[in-house]
Amino acid sequence: KAAIHRICSGQVVLDLAAAVKELVENSLDAGATNIEIRLKEYGAVLIEVADNGSGISPDNYQGLTLKYHTSKISEFSDLQSLSSFGFRGEALSSLCALSNVSVTTRTKEEAIGTRLDYDHSGAITSQQSVARAVGTTVAVAKLFAPLPVRHKEFTRNIRREYGRLLSILQAYALIAKGVRIVCTNQVGKSGRSTVIQTQGSGSVKDNVITVFGIKTAACLEPLELSAMDVGGQSVKVEGFVSKPGAGCGRASGDRQFFYVNGRPVDLPKISRLLNELYRSFNSTQCPMAVLNIMLPTQSYDVNVTPDKRKVFLHMEADFIVSLRTALESVYAPDKY
Ligand code: ADP
Ligand code: MG
Repeated sequence: KAAIHRICSGQVVLDLAAAVKELVENSLDAGATNIEIRLKEYGAVLIEVADNGSGISPDNYQGLTLKYHTSKISEFSDLQSLSSFGFRGEALSSLCALSNVSVTTRTKEEAIGTRLDYDHSGAITSQQSVARAVGTTVAVAKLFAPLPVRHKEFTRNIRREYGRLLSILQAYALIAKGVRIVCTNQVGKSGRSTVIQTQGSGSVKDNVITVFGIKTAACLEPLELSAMDVGGQSVKVEGFVSKPGAGCGRASGDRQFFYVNGRPVDLPKISRLLNELYRSFNSTQCPMAVLNIMLPTQSYDVNVTPDKRKVFLHMEADFIVSLRTALESVYAPDKY
């Protein structure tokens, strides 16, 4: 119980992007190697996330939509060595309250799949056997419909909500090695169009190529920092940054992706550092970046905000000094 109170930090599903992020994280946590996100009307009508992960066993059917019920953490101390994305057991219960949720799932122990429908309180309203390969599909229909004011604002700003959704999906698609991620959208009576697609390759570089194209990938310079000493801790950084002058600068920082131990996060100070160094070459643009910072789990805290995108790096100031030195050699004026 104590653990439950310490990790609950408010509503997790504030927008469309957060809804999809939570569902994709659940698929990744279930060990999926294939994840398909199918949207209708940019997600306003329907969001379906289908995976080939472990599936959900029947004894978990009711529990999964109860607040703070999770299969992923038993004690607060587990948070220190957390390897799964989910740990609060809030996403599905929040989604039930905010939309019409159904789950179709099958584990390898079962011969047939099961479709479950949930009401807004998270109770199962129907359960039936259906054909399904091993894995899980979670369908979220009419997001925010139970909150009329929020729903109105949501549908009015659907393109902006959708933009944020795409950039969060891009962040997962770039870093997920060996996981094929496909997102399609269907608008009106037109056909389904593919908006993101990766091949499940083993390299981030290949993912950059499939998500942004070969030309963009060619503008990137690898950045590898191994075992930097940051305040007595060993930190590694792996990724790519735009080469100066390669012609792939962006008007905004919309293609900057930061990760801590593979978890997508916002790192505004690091973004500012990159922009500042890049601007000595191109005064109006921002570089693209895909940077995964690997550091010991006890040297950062991911549970600062409900959506877990803000992290607190215990030695951020020291880290920025080290990163600046490394980036200055990429962005050294005499190199270009
Ligand atoms: P959390 O991820 O914090 O545990 P969620 O509300 O996101 O909480 O999910 C609740 C539980 O439902 C998970 O702990 C997991 O057991 C199960 N679950 C949800 N989505 C999937 C999925 N795609 N595959 C397998 N299990 C899932
Ligand atoms: Mg989850």
